[in-house]
Amino acid sequence: MNESKPVWQRWHDPTEPIRIGVSACLLGAEVRFDGGHKRDRYLTDVLAGDVEWLPVCPELEIGLGIPRPVIQLRGGTSGDRFVLREAGTDLSAQIADYSQSRVSELKAMGLDGFIFKKGSPSCGLARVRVYPDEGEMPLRSGIGHFSRRVVNEFPGLPVEEEGRLNDAGLREQFIEAIFCHNRWRVFERRGLTRSGLVAFHEAHKMLILSHDEPIYRKLGRIVASFGREDDAEIFSRYQEGFVAAFNRPTARKRHINVLEHLFGHLKRMIGPAEKKQIGLAIDDYRAGRVPLVVPISILRFLVESKEVEYVQGQLYLEPHPREMMLRNHA
Ligand code: SF4
Repeated sequence: MNESKPVWQRWHDPTEPIRIGVSACLLGAEVRFDGGHKRDRYLTDVLAGDVEWLPVCPELEIGLGIPRPVIQLRGGTSGDRFVLREAGTDLSAQIADYSQSRVSELKAMGLDGFIFKKGSPSCGLARVRVYPDEGEMPLRSGIGHFSRRVVNEFPGLPVEEEGRLNDAGLREQFIEAIFCHNRWRVFERRGLTRSGLVAFHEAHKMLILSHDEPIYRKLGRIVASFGREDDAEIFSRYQEGFVAAFNRPTARKRHINVLEHLFGHLKRMIGPAEKKQIGLAIDDYRAGRVPLVVPISILRFLVESKEVEYVQGQLYLEPHPREMMLRNHA
C-alpha cells in the first residue's frame, strides 16, 4: 500500500472501476417512448468522471422500439401488471424474463450502485402510478418492474432516483455507499482472507461508526470471531452488516462523536494552539457554522504532519475523492 496516496486511493483498484447501472435516458440517450431523453446534468457532467456507467433501457431492450406505446402499471397497490395503455396488452411475463437475464448479466459484470429514472413503470423505485382497471384515480404506490428485480436480486446495493441526488446530504450518502460497495467488491474479487478482513475493517472503523454505532460494534465482534466460527459464515455476515451500515443515514452528532474520537488519538502529540484550533472547528461544525470538511481538513493536516499511523489509515478522513466536494455543505 502506498502511504503517500489519499487514503481512498490506497484501497481503489483502477481495473475495477465504480460501476453504476443507470436508466439510459438519464445519460441523454434518446430512448424514451417519444424519442426524447431525460438527461441529468449532475450525472453526465459531474459524476461521469468518477464512475463507469452501465446504461439500461428495459423498454427498448424488450423490443418495444422508439417511438412506442405508453406503458402503465395496473393491479394491486404495487402495480402487478405491466400493460400497454391503449391496447391493454399484458407484457408482465416479457419484462420479468428480460429483467431476470439482464440482472444476471449485471451481476457477472459487477455493480456498485444503480440510479433509476423516477416515475417510470420500468425503472421507478417508488411512488410509480398504478392505474385501476376502471375509472378511479391512479395510486402513487407502484415500483417499476425492472427496478424491483434489481432491488430484490442485489440486497444492500446502493440505489437512488435521479432527482434525489440534487439533495447534498442524500448525494453524499449515496456516493459514500457506492465507494464502500466498490471496496468490498474489489476485496471479494481478489480473494477473501482473514488478514484482509481485519485490515478492511480497521480502515473502515470510523466511517462505519459515523453511520451506526451498534453495527460498528457488531462488525467488530464478527471480525474477532475468526477461529471460533466458520470463515465463510464470517465473511458473509460481515458483508451483510457492512452494506447495511451505509444504508443508514449519518448525522451531525455521529460525525461529532467520530471527530472527537480521532481528536483523542492526537491529543498527546499536539500543542495547546493546535488543540484549540481543532476544538473550535468541531464546535463550529456542531453549531452548523461550518461544513464537515472544515474540521476534517484540520484533522487530516495534523494527522499527516504528526504521522499518526492508525488515524492516517482511516477512510473516514477521505472516503472518496476530495474534488467531489461532498462534505462542503453546511
Ligand atoms: S425510464 Fe427506463 S424504460 Fe423509460 S426510457 Fe428511461 S431507461 Fe428506458
